[in-house]
Formats: sequence, structure tokens, C-alpha cells
Amino acid sequence: MSRGSRSSAKSELPTKPCAVCGRTITWRKKWERDWEGVRYCSDACRRRARSTGGKDDDAALERSLEDLLDARAASASVCPSEAARAVAAQQGLDGEGWRDLMEPARAAARRLVVAGRAQITQKGAVVDPDTARGPIRVRRPR
Ligand SMILES: [Zn+2]
Repeated sequence: MSRGSRSSAKSELPTKPCAVCGRTITWRKKWERDWEGVRYCSDACRRRARSTGGKDDDAALERSLEDLLDARAASASVCPSEAARAVAAQQGLDGEGWRDLMEPARAAARRLVVAGRAQITQKGAVVDPDTARGPIRVRRPR
């Protein structure tokens, strides 16, 4: 996954967000007969969508991010790790168990962006969720 292009330079092919990780899926020839049916960007995302535990975690992380955002001033942002820790605590995971929820928490943040309910920022600037690397923060759209 190395796409350094700015959004204005992206191709004209149709795109849609992955239902699991929120990353952009770009149309490919092999999907021309069933583009409508394409929902996931990867086998990993398809597997996650079909595992009950993964689905429950994802819903809980999304809820947690929304709760954290609602609990704060409209201008404040939250770190995905806060949602990961909150959900880990709800599940009774101790120690470093929350770390396994870190990538799913980032995916939950991307889904909120897709839904128009959040923005992802780095150093206070809104970034493209597809390409952001390193620590991110989540805030309500402005
Ligand atoms: Zn995906």
C-alpha cells in the first residue's frame, strides 16, 4: 500500500470505502461484472466482517469513539487508543490487551470519516485517512 498521490491527482475510476477498514477501494477490471457487490478491500477485511467477535469489537470501538467525542468540547479531539483502552476494559482485558484493538480502533475512526461523522488529523491538520501513517487524532467535522 504505497499511494502518495494527492486526492486531486487520483484517477477517475469509481471508488467506494471498504465496509470494514474504511480505506478507499478503487474499481478494477476484475470487478466489472459485480462492482456493486464489492464491499471489502482485502481478504483480511472480508474475514473480519464474517467473524462475530471482530464485528462486535468494531461496533464497540465505533460507539466508544462517538462517546468520547460527545463527552468533549466540539473542538476537542480524541486518540484512537482511548477507544481501544475503553473497549478492552469493557471486555475485561487487562495489561496490554488493548493494543490488539489499536488497528481496529483506527479502522473505526476511518469508518466515522466515511460516514461524515469525524475527521482524522495529524498535528492539527486534516489528513487523508487512506494514507495517514503514525499517530492520528479524531475530531468532529468542522
Ligand atoms: Zn478494508
